[in-house]
Amino acid sequence: MKIKWDKDTEEHMAVQEKEGVVYLTYPAFEKFPQFCHGFSTRLGGVSQGIYSTMNLSFQRGDLEENVSENYRRIARAIGFDLEGAVCSQQTHTVNIRQVKKEDGGKGILKPLDYQDIDGLITDIPGMTLVTSFADCVPLFFMDPVHNAIGLAHSGWKGTAARMGRHMLGAMKEAFGSKSSEIYAAIGPSICQKCYEVSQDVAEIFFREFPQSQKEKHFIYRKDNGKYQLNLWRANEIIFLEEGIPKEHISFPGICTCCNPELLFSHRASKGKRGNLSAFLEIRPSME
Ligand SMILES: [Zn+2]
Repeated sequence: MKIKWDKDTEEHMAVQEKEGVVYLTYPAFEKFPQFCHGFSTRLGGVSQGIYSTMNLSFQRGDLEENVSENYRRIARAIGFDLEGAVCSQQTHTVNIRQVKKEDGGKGILKPLDYQDIDGLITDIPGMTLVTSFADCVPLFFMDPVHNAIGLAHSGWKGTAARMGRHMLGAMKEAFGSKSSEIYAAIGPSICQKCYEVSQDVAEIFFREFPQSQKEKHFIYRKDNGKYQLNLWRANEIIFLEEGIPKEHISFPGICTCCNPELLFSHRASKGKRGNLSAFLEIRPSME
């Protein structure tokens, strides 16, 4: 499959394939073998039609047995155990849950017993954080010093509310993490060229991010009165404001909407779609 990479991104995600399951990883994360991560694509699953083939949502009308099989396949490919996988319950909030051992399997092997959770953090090895996407922005956080991780869902609402800052705050409080030691990544999501927003949304960003009033690369107005918004840049600014070193930040280099055959995109499919997932785990120690 021909992938349309973003021309402005110097280093982009790597394409991995195992037993027919295709997923994406960050080259910059490879120097930390204690962490396991990946981002799914549409390829390698068993779902049909608008869900084809690797749909990872039980809530969008797909057959439950197909989604379960898709989870088994992606877990085997990326290399984590579904018993320890824990899902978010995303509603565009900045609420964060510290995942505990008893949360293992929630959202995949057993029902969720919490709601309105857009961010997950943990320092327990073997617990895999799972968040869902189809254009919104995934945020990955790795703290190799305190051996802790975080994974969040940040659409325009979460980005305007600075989900990245909330995640770093939660990791500082729970694990003693320091921004200067954290490695962060922005995940596959909608690019500026594809992301038209209304004046209402644009005004929120102009207010929340003063630099957006000057940077065309952040947001610009078009002749039709609409705006093009760059959520990758907005989240980069949040990371930099909070003190994550620039060289610790990775970008996807791939847009969901520019690659509708490889990735699920809400915009490209007009809402007829499955979900992609991001995964992040502290590997269980080998004993
Ligand atoms: Zn695009």
